[in-house]
Amino acid sequence: MITGDQVLIKQINKSLVMNIIREKRNISRAQISKITGLNRATVSAIVDELIYEGIVIEEGLGESKGGRKPIILRINENYACIIGIDLGVNYVSVLLANFNAKTLWSKKLMLNIGESQEEIIDKIFTLVDEALINAPKTIKGILGIGMGVPGITNHKEGIILKAPNLNWENVNIKEIIGEKYDTKIFIDNEANVAAIGEKWFGTGQKFKNLIYVSAGIGVGAGIIINDKLFRGANGLAGELGHMTIDVNGMKCSCGNIGCWELYASEKALIRLMSPQNDINYSKNKKLIDIIEQARNGSIEAINSFKSVAKFLGLGIVNLINTFDPELIIIGNTISLAYDLIIDEVKRIVNDNCFTTKHSKVKIEVSRFGTDACAIGAIALVISDIFSLSF
Ligand SMILES: [Zn+2]
Repeated sequence: MITGDQVLIKQINKSLVMNIIREKRNISRAQISKITGLNRATVSAIVDELIYEGIVIEEGLGESKGGRKPIILRINENYACIIGIDLGVNYVSVLLANFNAKTLWSKKLMLNIGESQEEIIDKIFTLVDEALINAPKTIKGILGIGMGVPGITNHKEGIILKAPNLNWENVNIKEIIGEKYDTKIFIDNEANVAAIGEKWFGTGQKFKNLIYVSAGIGVGAGIIINDKLFRGANGLAGELGHMTIDVNGMKCSCGNIGCWELYASEKALIRLMSPQNDINYSKNKKLIDIIEQARNGSIEAINSFKSVAKFLGLGIVNLINTFDPELIIIGNTISLAYDLIIDEVKRIVNDNCFTTKHSKVKIEVSRFGTDACAIGAIALVISDIFSLSF
């Protein structure tokens, strides 16, 4: 008789073997046995099951240290496709990826100011439909849909509790998407999602403690502690964009005053560049134009980026002092201005963070650029297959 404990042990071992194959990329059964400490028969049985399911494939022969050459195993990138949705404040982007998170197709639609929830959801559906048309045939088909949203969520239920910059409250987005698409659906805050993406497939792969700072129209953070996303007691951790950095500061849409995101975001940059009394400026001005102006030597644009970088750096000092991470990744739209901000961010951290004298914290920019959240949404789905729980 197989007991519940035995089933659980088998699942844990299977997850362990899958993750070793994923992390090492090319590995033999004997090497897996050596790394995991599982006996060869157990490893072989699990690998056979994974090959049968189509998750793992055998690919060629490795080097022999005497005796038969070992068969090399790797994850089958054609096992399934995944759809990642990045719902931004002023855009929605959808990405189709294979089982190794390689992008097969992607498309972005801009959102207009004041667009209704129904109109935005229609745009999401349009893009997902197009992604499905572009999906190649795979063993498992579409494995799931992951989604990052700009607000606080109940990630278990898939509810957007509040997205201040979109003005959405208590939207059961998982149910809305689930009514149209018959697949597994995962929802989380955009910075959390991007942090998982960096940890699984990006700059953060080799780091156990990292913070992804999402500096877009707002600011948020995804915090990975000991390889796990830190969600807090209610799944609301990481709302660092709303920590007060100026007690006499401006009023924020969250209800607080002097929030970090008012000074270290795209929103801040646009405000700094706006001529006084020109309320239409922010509607017409795009970040990309200001980057170009700065690169062409506009002092006003250069100083505006310097101010955003200064406040970004000061907030990062607080994060480093609180969490002692190994790596800070700056992502979202502000990261497009990497060359205009990174030196100032590093200077501020160096001058103001006394703990960095005793650590080797790295500050980098996301290699996924503005795709970080969509790739993270893909990782959200894939991590569900590889983990018992993330
Ligand atoms: Zn706020």
